[in-house]
Amino acid sequence: MIKGLYGKDLARIITSEEFLRRLSISSRVTARKQKETAFAVFFDIYKGKFQVSDHETGGYTSMKTRDTSVGIETPAHMIGLLDHHFHTEFNGPVIPSNCDLEGLTGVIEHGKRKEDPNLKQLYCRNFGYGNTKIRYIRCIGKVRRNGDVEILFLQGRSYTPFPIGLIDIINEDFGRLFLNPAIAETEYLIENSGIKTDEIAAILNKYINAAVVNVRGKYLKSKSEMKAFRKEKLDCVEKTLERFGYDIKLEDFIYFNSDRSART
Ligand SMILES: [Zn+2]
Repeated sequence: MIKGLYGKDLARIITSEEFLRRLSISSRVTARKQKETAFAVFFDIYKGKFQVSDHETGGYTSMKTRDTSVGIETPAHMIGLLDHHFHTEFNGPVIPSNCDLEGLTGVIEHGKRKEDPNLKQLYCRNFGYGNTKIRYIRCIGKVRRNGDVEILFLQGRSYTPFPIGLIDIINEDFGRLFLNPAIAETEYLIENSGIKTDEIAAILNKYINAAVVNVRGKYLKSKSEMKAFRKEKLDCVEKTLERFGYDIKLEDFIYFNSDRSART
């Protein structure tokens, strides 16, 4: 049974053929249709392994075509660990929307996400069975005109609630960087700012975990290039994502497992 999600696991997931293939396909859909695309990574409790979902296609400025901000439901026998969505603009830094940050909050019960619209602070998400506590990871990507992909990884630093008002504080910091207090709403300014995603990550890192992983377009072109990406970049990705690792708190799995074994 899964005990945690550590830097090594994350690096293996991100450099896996399944993840890179989905990244490749969804990046091309976003670039061609100018629509957001999203997919997720689950841990399959029955099979004991990770699984990358198919992608879903959203709208121009949001994945909000369903009842979740990313549009991917966690199946009942899986734990949702991570999701990735592409923003549509080719240029400018990757910058999380309020919705993306709020998406790090929420409660998952029996594979379904429940959002409390009154709750603006971040707190640990409960996924799958009972109160299996995880620290959800959200990835936001931008595909450049040459096919290169830049991914911003985001994660809360603990299982406990974020301070109230944190999203407002982060937005104030973004506003100072862009010299525009309403930057989150201003795609044109973001695209033409010349600001780098690393600068966005530096602000976010004051409050949450944030890191940038770049995947050159050439690595997304074929199976052999995807294998080459793993060979060449595995250690580097592991180092970048090491601090996103955490123990999955399995208190309720013990109940779940003993319940199952009692029936079989
Ligand atoms: Zn977004």
